[in-house]
Amino acid sequence: MDIKKIYMDSDALLEGHFKLSSGNHSQFYLQSAKVLEDPKTAKLLADALALQIKESGIKIDTVCAPALGGLIAGFALATALDCRSIFAERVNGEMSIRRGFEVKKGERVLMCEDIITTGGSAMEAAAVVESLGGEVVAVAALANRGFCKRQNSDVTTKPNCRLPQNIPFFALADFTFEMYSPEDCPMCKNGSEAIKPGSRGN
Ligand code: ZN
Repeated sequence: MDIKKIYMDSDALLEGHFKLSSGNHSQFYLQSAKVLEDPKTAKLLADALALQIKESGIKIDTVCAPALGGLIAGFALATALDCRSIFAERVNGEMSIRRGFEVKKGERVLMCEDIITTGGSAMEAAAVVESLGGEVVAVAALANRGFCKRQNSDVTTKPNCRLPQNIPFFALADFTFEMYSPEDCPMCKNGSEAIKPGSRGN
């Protein structure tokens, strides 16, 4: 399966000159929500991700999405894994699990995002799951921004990766495009102006 082509075809991977939320510039922009706009594509991607997880032999009781970005991916993955689907959300900046969702002691939870950049949000939500007695046994995302090492990839873990090394990280593809500070941006040097797509640049 050509994940990058699926992203391109869904306008989820844009090429141009973009200003990211970090302030850095990039030639590419990943808007993962767009790839999930078509439920058939969402199912296709979640099935492929679920296959990797099943092949690893790791047993999952529950998929937990950390906040909005991971909701659809998490639900689709839970459907493919035939397990429970819950989500965390930010309330006044703090990650929490609400809406009557319970996490049982020892429950085996997989954290699922649409895209993992450094994994910070996933780990904030994982801490909440663990505080309720759950055991975070894996992390999964449709796309890996290339800062963390996923299973079956040569991409190495960078210092800003927040995912723990002792639990597996599953993703379908690495999107490791360059980022530049505005002063060093080759596209700026060529006279083009960076545009800011989306709300947070991820
Ligand atoms: Zn630029």
